[in-house]
Amino acid sequence: MMLKNYNLACAINHHSMINPGAPAVVCQGRSLTYGELAERAARLAACLTHRLDWQRLDGQPPCVGILASRGIDACVALLGACWAGATYVPISLKQPEERILTLLAQCGLSAIIADDEGAKLLSERVLAACPQVVIHAGQTSLTPRDGAVEIIEMATLPTVIPEEPAPMAAPDTAYIIFTSGTTGIPKGVMISACSARHYVAMIAEWLELRASDRALETCELSFDFSVHNMFATWEAGAALYILPATTVMNAVKFARNSGLTVWNSVPSLAGMLRQIKALAPESLATLRVTVFGGEQLPASTVTAWQHAAPNSSIFNLYGPTEATVFCLAQTVANPLPLTPGRDVLAIGTPLPGNEARVVDESGQTMADGTSGELVIAGKQLADGYLGAHELTASRFPTLDGKRWYRTGDLALRDATGCFHCLGRIDNQVKVLGYRVELEEIDAHLRVVSGADVVGSVAWPQADGMASGIVSFVGASTVDAEQVIDALKKRLPPYMLPSRVIALETMPLSSSGKVDRRALRQLLDAAA
Ligand code: AMP
Repeated sequence: MMLKNYNLACAINHHSMINPGAPAVVCQGRSLTYGELAERAARLAACLTHRLDWQRLDGQPPCVGILASRGIDACVALLGACWAGATYVPISLKQPEERILTLLAQCGLSAIIADDEGAKLLSERVLAACPQVVIHAGQTSLTPRDGAVEIIEMATLPTVIPEEPAPMAAPDTAYIIFTSGTTGIPKGVMISACSARHYVAMIAEWLELRASDRALETCELSFDFSVHNMFATWEAGAALYILPATTVMNAVKFARNSGLTVWNSVPSLAGMLRQIKALAPESLATLRVTVFGGEQLPASTVTAWQHAAPNSSIFNLYGPTEATVFCLAQTVANPLPLTPGRDVLAIGTPLPGNEARVVDESGQTMADGTSGELVIAGKQLADGYLGAHELTASRFPTLDGKRWYRTGDLALRDATGCFHCLGRIDNQVKVLGYRVELEEIDAHLRVVSGADVVGSVAWPQADGMASGIVSFVGASTVDAEQVIDALKKRLPPYMLPSRVIALETMPLSSSGKVDRRALRQLLDAAA
């Protein structure tokens, strides 16, 4: 009996056989059909799998790092890794060298595939930490480098007749995505092939995506929203239109010129477009589906969107990386399904295959209308954090004989069964859509400032969304510029404080911790 293949590349293989000429991905004047995309991915896969050292480790597929910015080459790189039956690991280009080295040390890669932008980060130090095989899947050719690592140019690889994507079993890890970690070290969330396949097939059907759709990609590979954008689009046999990072503010024009039918983005992008008055009435008339997700969706954004995209259904999707992209959904209707007392949309009900509950500290389910921590169970739960068994055990407890994920979100379920997100229990924040643990910034701030007592806050905030970070150090003076410069070597730009302020006496809460609320109030008062 032929076992099911959970490889994420299977959908591309399928569409390349039944409709090879259909466009699969379009970006900056270049495009690839399903046939071309499949051939390139299979070519990369052949290069990986024909190597003598290509093997499973501890029962799991080899890991392949993807060092690429969003674009066609990134899609080819990622699909090449999938096609070969590997676990793909996106490496964000926004990170400083130090953080890339930490990540490389954490995940024991068998190969790296880099695009032109990614190849620029292959410094001597990074190359020294790289696996033996680095494949360059870019448009320019690299100047040869000395050293132990062999850089293979994809352009030199022989074309192949695509074979089936390598078999992936349900428990094989499909991808590992790193998110901010409170200890100062990012944590790798491991998603199984079974969870990933479930999500992709489920959401493409739930949203009723069609082969004629043209769907927007606005995310980097290191944000799991990209899993939704790429794979749900390809599941439907539709075309993915990648918004270049340099033209984000022209997203409306891009959508109109491309005749997009599906919009996928964090609400922050829509909020920014609204702020620059780009959301003119009917400016997005071709859209039929809008997916907002990843952070609070303000009512003001939805109202503006309804005018700009009058023909589009709007969905508010909720989910942590640890539960495979999105696990709850709210369909937007009028009057808007708002969270009581807040101008943000409800997060709705669990998507097929998912379960949600609100629990107290001991894991007991709370009565409807009472707030507690939101926990998730079902087919999409991550296997845990790479190499962090204790953290995995504490975040994925067993309650009533079932495995759950503690989201850290404060939530309530109302009498109709609809869930509402009320903020965080911990110090995780979203800054312009990026997930940030304030403690991670603090851990580095302590090192570079030499101060023991430090505290960072997400500020300023408008419409419930933060657009920056401000840090405080418990000292009489601080050389802010020097501290920020030192942080630049350790943190990605979206985690950098715009200001570092010295405070001789830091406000402390009753438990003796730095009182971040008081710090935010100081900033509000000064503003
Ligand atoms: P990430 O792992 O980056 O997707 O971040 C997950 C966190 O983002 C969740 O735990 C929530 O705090 C927040 N989040 C995601 N989607 C939503 C949403 N639709 N509404 C409110 N908060 C959200």
